[in-house]
Amino acid sequence: MNYRTNRNNSNQLSILGFGIMRLPSKNGAIDEPRAIAMIRHAVDEGINYFDTAYIYHRGKSEALLGKALAGHARRKVFIATKLPTYMVGSLEGAKKIFETQLKRLQTDYIDYYLLHMLVDKAMFDRMVSLGVMTWLERLKENGIIHNIGFSFHGVKADFEALLKAYPWDFCQIQYNYLDENSQATKAGLLMAADMGIPVIVMEPLRGGRLVTHLPAEVKREFETFDPKRSSAQWALRWVWNHPQVTVVLSGMSDEAQLEENIAVAGDARADMMSEDELAMFSRVKEIILEKTKVPCTGCAYCMPCPHGVDIPECFSYYNEKHLMNDKMAKFRYMRNLGGLAVNPSNASQCVACGKCESQCPQSIEIIKELKNVSREMEGPLYRPIVWLSRKMMRIKG
Ligand code: SF4
Ligand code: SF4
Repeated sequence: MNYRTNRNNSNQLSILGFGIMRLPSKNGAIDEPRAIAMIRHAVDEGINYFDTAYIYHRGKSEALLGKALAGHARRKVFIATKLPTYMVGSLEGAKKIFETQLKRLQTDYIDYYLLHMLVDKAMFDRMVSLGVMTWLERLKENGIIHNIGFSFHGVKADFEALLKAYPWDFCQIQYNYLDENSQATKAGLLMAADMGIPVIVMEPLRGGRLVTHLPAEVKREFETFDPKRSSAQWALRWVWNHPQVTVVLSGMSDEAQLEENIAVAGDARADMMSEDELAMFSRVKEIILEKTKVPCTGCAYCMPCPHGVDIPECFSYYNEKHLMNDKMAKFRYMRNLGGLAVNPSNASQCVACGKCESQCPQSIEIIKELKNVSREMEGPLYRPIVWLSRKMMRIKG
């Protein structure tokens, strides 16, 4: 494992951080024995940065991480977790959440504590006016929080305003080869580095879509350059190539991903990519951007929809159809989201109530895009086919 130094406090942080938001699951819940074994194996392999949040895995992520690290490795690792600012209406409310987080994590201190999902300075100002920042500073003085930061999902101008608004100890941004010019952008990354603010990167694979949703032309580009290197390895190496990045988080879902990421983190260095490699990435970006319909990362912050729409899955099938020119995506969409499910979750269930849109860190116009999905993936024959399939298969509901 390689490490990069947080210059503000000399912490040696593993360049690969474990994002505790996409753990293996079984029967709709975290597959606990597997997840715990993965976390402990990660510690043994030198990963020392673990990133969770109050809301991940519908509130179960922190407790799982706490269980995996308790009595095993708590003092050897750095835990990052987040205050769900969008759920905080008062200082008392924030304090209650924090107490719960300490209990769930079975710890009496948090190494890296973030205001979760800020999109603009107004969200930060609200925390200031509630007294949250003063309280966090007191916790820091008392050694209960070691670093105060924020995670960001907005546009460059707002990121820059936030960087200047407070003497942050660190920040977390979405960054990958497709997002060089969106969200915080490369310019934002460089600005944070210039200000001496360590940057943690999330979504280096865009929720796995830079692996699972790649057009054949892109796979060919990667294979031609080096047949031994996977799409995930290419994407991670691209982020680590930036010396301004301290840790890259990966939300690993199975043992194979963990092993692969550990291996690639072992030989990744800043400024390691050649001109030819960077030119290949420019071609790859052009191909993907031309074909992507909805820039959804599958984070599920917009869920649950009160009307049963599985928003990320709807966008996933829709993108798959276009990115991979996959005609079967339409069939899978019908089978999995509407046709054979007891509770259909396809796009046309949307009643445009608007509950989801403000939650989306990618600012996707969910209602409009779901209409497009329903038009293209369902069409006029969808309902009769679904009706017939359900009748034939005796599906009720
Ligand atoms: S706008 Fe549509 S998808 Fe969003 S929460 Fe309402 S019904 Fe669900
Ligand atoms: S629509 Fe937005 S909030 Fe919902 S899963 Fe996609 S990126 Fe996340």
